[in-house]
Amino acid sequence: RRRQMVVANWKMHGSFDFCRAMIPALGRAAQDAVELVVCPPAPFLATVSQLALGTGVTCSAQDVAELPSGARTGEWSAAMLAEVGCRYALVGHSERRQHHYEDDALIAGKARACLLAGITPIVCIGESAAERERGETEQVLCNQLDWLMSTPLWRQAIVAYEPRWAIGTNQAATPEVAQATHALIRAYLAQCDAQAAARMPLLYGGSVKADNAQQLLAMPDIDGVLVGGASLDIAAFLPIYSAA
Ligand code: 13P
Repeated sequence: RRRQMVVANWKMHGSFDFCRAMIPALGRAAQDAVELVVCPPAPFLATVSQLALGTGVTCSAQDVAELPSGARTGEWSAAMLAEVGCRYALVGHSERRQHHYEDDALIAGKARACLLAGITPIVCIGESAAERERGETEQVLCNQLDWLMSTPLWRQAIVAYEPRWAIGTNQAATPEVAQATHALIRAYLAQCDAQAAARMPLLYGGSVKADNAQQLLAMPDIDGVLVGGASLDIAAFLPIYSAA
């Protein structure tokens, strides 16, 4: 099956001391069979990628610009991420969509910029609670996937399914609901390219904890997890990583 990955999204948390403590500890746990990825805040990316060298831990940004360079104060390009040793960038996280008004066109542009620079985008999609209640989940996700599939090289991306109602709420999707949604995502991608759909890692995110990680990761279409809150505490995170 597809190689599994466990991704720690620190969001806007951490410090130099936190990086210097966490990366060696994660490095001691990292195994070849399951990729361990850390997404620190941008000011710590270069430090984290240096600390991670040779440990088996890989580095991801939490965001990236859609342009290769230019007058865009406060942003950074995918090529810059590659230069500091990042392999991945999160793109379209729901917090970016919500608080920074990112739309699907911009997010597709960011994914494209990553793919052209050799950074693998982890493209986050997901429905709100209201959309799920109205029965619109499939439509919302397929629309988000249409934007991704309009991007050249989209077959090399990773998709993270993060239902908004599960992020930071302690209300993770049940393994059954997450699996059913992942199967729907994979089937929709397969309508465009069956081989690419079969190969693409699909991650689940939203209140992943030590006590639900194993059941989620046992599902056939869940290839990894994207962990927020529980990634900030090594004692909470390592059991999640070991569950993969
Ligand atoms: P929590 O694990 O804190 O719910 O956050 C999930 C998330 O947004 C990861 O990107």
